[in-house]
Amino acid sequence: VSARAVPSYAVGALVDRLVGALGADCVVTDPAAIAPRLTEWRRLYTGTADVLVTPRTVDQVAAALAVAHDLGAPVTPQGGRTGLVGGGVPHGGVVLSLERLSRIRALDVMDATITVEAGVTLASAKAAAADQGMLLPLSIASEGDAMIGGVLSTNAGGTSALRYGSARALCLALEVVLADGRRLDLTGGLRKDNAGYDLKQLFIGSEGTLGVITAATLGLAPALRDVATALAGVADPTAAMAMFRALRDRVGPALTTFELMPRFGYALSLRHIGRADALEAAHPWYLLVELSSPVAGGGLDERLSDWLAAMLEDGLAADATLAANERQRADLWRLRDALSDAQGLAGASIKHDVSVPLSRIAGFIEETSAACTAALEGLRPCVFGHLGDGNLHFNLSQPEGMDRAAFLALWPRFNRIVHDRVIAAGGSIAAEHGVGIQKRDELLLARGPVAIGAMRAIKAALDPRGILNPGKVI
Ligand SMILES: Cc1cc2nc3c(=O)[nH]c(=O)nc-3n(C[C@H](O)[C@H](O)[C@H](O)COP(=O)(O)OP(=O)(O)OC[C@H]3O[C@@H](n4cnc5c(N)ncnc54)[C@H](O)[C@@H]3O)c2cc1C
Repeated sequence: VSARAVPSYAVGALVDRLVGALGADCVVTDPAAIAPRLTEWRRLYTGTADVLVTPRTVDQVAAALAVAHDLGAPVTPQGGRTGLVGGGVPHGGVVLSLERLSRIRALDVMDATITVEAGVTLASAKAAAADQGMLLPLSIASEGDAMIGGVLSTNAGGTSALRYGSARALCLALEVVLADGRRLDLTGGLRKDNAGYDLKQLFIGSEGTLGVITAATLGLAPALRDVATALAGVADPTAAMAMFRALRDRVGPALTTFELMPRFGYALSLRHIGRADALEAAHPWYLLVELSSPVAGGGLDERLSDWLAAMLEDGLAADATLAANERQRADLWRLRDALSDAQGLAGASIKHDVSVPLSRIAGFIEETSAACTAALEGLRPCVFGHLGDGNLHFNLSQPEGMDRAAFLALWPRFNRIVHDRVIAAGGSIAAEHGVGIQKRDELLLARGPVAIGAMRAIKAALDPRGILNPGKVI
């Protein structure tokens, strides 16, 4: 985070007015209590803050924003702090934690909706839906910590977006507090609603720069009653994409997950969780594939196994294993879920979260990996992710023995290699993690001046004093 500008407000007055408006139990000034809020998951960015505010009610969120707006103090919303682009790192002023807004307000089985406050973790919301025989169909490895406000503000994707879409697709209604403290109720939770502009879309994916989400209504799906999961070893991304197309044609909407892992990352995962290889021999690439259906006894194991047999016969798959029970399914998923953390075993890593049209993704992986390894001897690409969505975590692990800081200093250079190819392929430089601090300058390159101008106009309309999450996104 760049050096903080000299605040135009008196910190003492900010704290006094917050205490007056919310009560002392919601206002924290102890630097030791604030310190963990100044950094983020990857420890790449550290910021500053004068005060931490932890409201229990929407009225208190509104009161905090009204005070900050009046004084011109920056406000950085925080949820579970699992964001990966530095979006929750404060830039002075107020850290606004939504974690105490943690009520599940309603669950309606007929409407197939759940209404939750911003501080409910994704895992708790999913558990509440499951208790009523319903599915909240969003899965990310951080769901035990990530909160609904953060999940919507980043428009999180994850491993079932292929079937159900990203968080945006699930959001039917929002409650938002605007920068000046006014409350905007975009409630209703209807499946069809064309009454004017769909304002909630502005707040989804805008990373706390346009308003503070305090609650949301999310659409639910019927619980799953048949699931089939397989791991396959493949030679290259071209074979993987041929397999994807064949599976999509065979099973249609039952296709829920189609994840890609390279041998390098897969081996790190095995080491990280301390288990033996799931397949007999090593393969250059791996696919984790899942089919699911709300219909019990839908024969998904058989359909997946028939597809695998055909892929082995065609020489597209080299080997495969099908989970025979829940334990084996969980075991295969651990290999994929551990991958983000496991990369730490290989030292520092330069990360890109990109998406590319499916028709070009195989060539993109091969060509961009080659360009990266040619740029730095010993570089170890770890390209994995949600292949079926065209979404790759194009991560690059440092050469063995290289100084960590010297490697990370090359990030801008690798941005040019990776992002320029993404843009040329008609892709996006921010597929699911957002822009935050990390990609703010890249966004200017990726979107044309007309789009950036429109974004700035929206920001100015909703946050005229520029207090909401300054320095992020645009
Ligand atoms: C191990 C791991 C795996 C992950 N896997 C995935 C994945 O598969 N797919 C994916 O998309 N992401 C993934 N992520 C990223 C992250 O979990 C998501 O971005 C998540 O949605 C962030 O939620 P959070 O509550 O932690 O938000 P935070 O990190 O607290 O905040 C994220 C952003 O949202 C803003 N914000 C937070 N709450 C609010 C609010 N109530 N109102 C307005 N703005 C707010 C913050 O200011 C910040 O800009 C992963 C992260 C980790 C650590």
